[in-house]
Amino acid sequence: MKPANQVMDGLGTTVFEVMSRLAIEHGSINLGQGFPDEDGPQDVRRAAADALMAGPNQYPPMAGLPELRQAIAAHAARFYGLDVDWQREVLVTSGATEALADCFFGLLNPGDEVILLEPLYDSYPPIVARAGAVPRYVRLEPPDWKLPMAALEEAFGPKTKAILLNTPMNPASKVFSAEELSAIAELCVRHDVVAICDEVYEHLVFDGADHLPLINLPGMRERTLRIGSAGKIFSLTGWKVGWVVGAPDLLAPIMKTHQFMTFTTPPDLQKAVAYGLAKEDGYFSGLAGDMQAKRDRLSAGLARAGFDVLPSGGTYFVSADFRPLGFNGTDEEFCQLITLEAGVTAVPVSAFYRTGEVHHLARFCFSKQDDILDEASDRLAKRFAA
Ligand code: PMP
Ligand code: GLN
Repeated sequence: MKPANQVMDGLGTTVFEVMSRLAIEHGSINLGQGFPDEDGPQDVRRAAADALMAGPNQYPPMAGLPELRQAIAAHAARFYGLDVDWQREVLVTSGATEALADCFFGLLNPGDEVILLEPLYDSYPPIVARAGAVPRYVRLEPPDWKLPMAALEEAFGPKTKAILLNTPMNPASKVFSAEELSAIAELCVRHDVVAICDEVYEHLVFDGADHLPLINLPGMRERTLRIGSAGKIFSLTGWKVGWVVGAPDLLAPIMKTHQFMTFTTPPDLQKAVAYGLAKEDGYFSGLAGDMQAKRDRLSAGLARAGFDVLPSGGTYFVSADFRPLGFNGTDEEFCQLITLEAGVTAVPVSAFYRTGEVHHLARFCFSKQDDILDEASDRLAKRFAA
């Protein structure tokens, strides 16, 4: 047989699937892959169930149901004062993962460069490579994950087509500051670069900080694609309803990609997400408050077990340095070990780097019930008791 596509055929299985399988195999508490262990609001699920039964369950419009596109525009206006034309500037996708692929495939030509900030969500590099483009990595380093301005400036050049910005950032749990965002915006404008903004954790920002969409910064309205995900906003990660917001000309090639990737997204889920996005402000602040309490609970538990716990300003995740426990192997080895010997699964942070080595951190997901978080902390404490 002739060879399959080199980029795709050469890939391993995504770390999230690998670690979830391992957790199932060993019956461990799965704090690896990022998903809540309790489904989101009952009224949102009820809206989906009602829509499913009432129908129609046929192809909705390619760009998404009007009521969802209107709700996405209204949500952007309500939370960020962003004025979005729902008919020309919103595309509904089957999850943020599709939105990302649509953006890369829609924008990139072979030889274009894309700036990717590490550590990163693992879908970005293969899709960039499959588009024939070249990733230019800029590394953020633990424990403070500061944006290295000199390296960033150096990464921008005549071939740079786009930068991917993920804030709040998985797995660093970093919320980019206003100064960092201004610096990124200034570079995008200076070098005529598009920003693809993965903002799936926009409502998971803690400690009273604000989520600041890059699209709102001077010069960015016409050159930013803002990606969201209902999975994260409503604790329904299996739903895979996402979206892209951007200026009409910028969105046009993304829409054309979408038409041949999935064409559309289940209509009953779209209706329910439209309903959910109109929920009262208290829902959104409550989600962040609940997750912040879980962050605090797991962070304290991990610290008690002897980890050096890094700060987490947003997302579902907290990372922890395991070296104080006396473990001197790699992060992959550590995550295997705790699955087998403590009954707790995490994800090695090295899986989020492509340019080498950060091998002393494990990422733990805290979007779990409190007793599960406590049990996981207790198990780790017991395994590593002096
Ligand atoms: N981006 C980031 C940073 C993520 O962590 C995830 C995780 N699910 C996604 C995108 C994908 O979102 P979706 O499930 O909506 O495809
Ligand atoms: N975003 C989730 C995480 O970081 C996982 C998504 C997936 O499994 N593809 O854990």
